[in-house]
Amino acid sequence: MDQLQLLWQFQELEQEINRQKQNLQKIPSIHEHRQEKEKFTHFQQMLKEKEEDLNSLKRELRRKELELQTITASLKEMDKKLYSGEVRNVKELENLEKNVQTKKKEISDLEDEIIHMMEKSEQDAAEISRLKKTEEEKSKTLQQLMVKARNDLAKAQENLEQLNDKHGELLQTIDESLLNRYRELSKRTPGGRCISLVKKGFCGICNVSLPSSFKGYLLTPGKLVYCENCGSLLVYGD
Ligand SMILES: [Zn+2]
Repeated sequence: MDQLQLLWQFQELEQEINRQKQNLQKIPSIHEHRQEKEKFTHFQQMLKEKEEDLNSLKRELRRKELELQTITASLKEMDKKLYSGEVRNVKELENLEKNVQTKKKEISDLEDEIIHMMEKSEQDAAEISRLKKTEEEKSKTLQQLMVKARNDLAKAQENLEQLNDKHGELLQTIDESLLNRYRELSKRTPGGRCISLVKKGFCGICNVSLPSSFKGYLLTPGKLVYCENCGSLLVYGD
């Protein structure tokens, strides 16, 4: 193949390599995995907080149950004293009776509170168990996403490696002076093309119609011809 056509291929290959390098930064499955992982971390944090709340509720419940035991025991003592007949003083008996009523009220309130806390603790435990199942499902989905993201990344990297190999091969094939000319021209169009493939008499970059005399120049070996409109190096492409 003609050296200029190889140079054009080289340019196209570099364009493709740049495109693939940019794509590597925005592989959809990697982006998706990152987003889902972040959501999952928040979910786990929320679940952990709920578990901690439930644990402190259970501790509080045990504390209330102990308190109930203590008050119940002390009420028993008072009842015993009240009906033992050892307190004869009326005033003292009245006081004792009043204290017994107060304790009974305390016990009743505490029992209500304990029942309410037990109900809440059961509801919370059921909710946590539901959330744990959801956590498992989310974790599986995330795992699958990660595998897909890794595969996509590996594929993209492999593709890029192949392109780089081709790039290395072409580099060996093209004359150094021509490569240097290409590098110089590239500086005028950073990231863009500077080697134009001419088809049916049109510049492949700016699309201007070239004078018919150009065809003869293009087919002359070793002659470098430039587009008068955009300054690209022209390569015969028909
Ligand atoms: Zn042109």
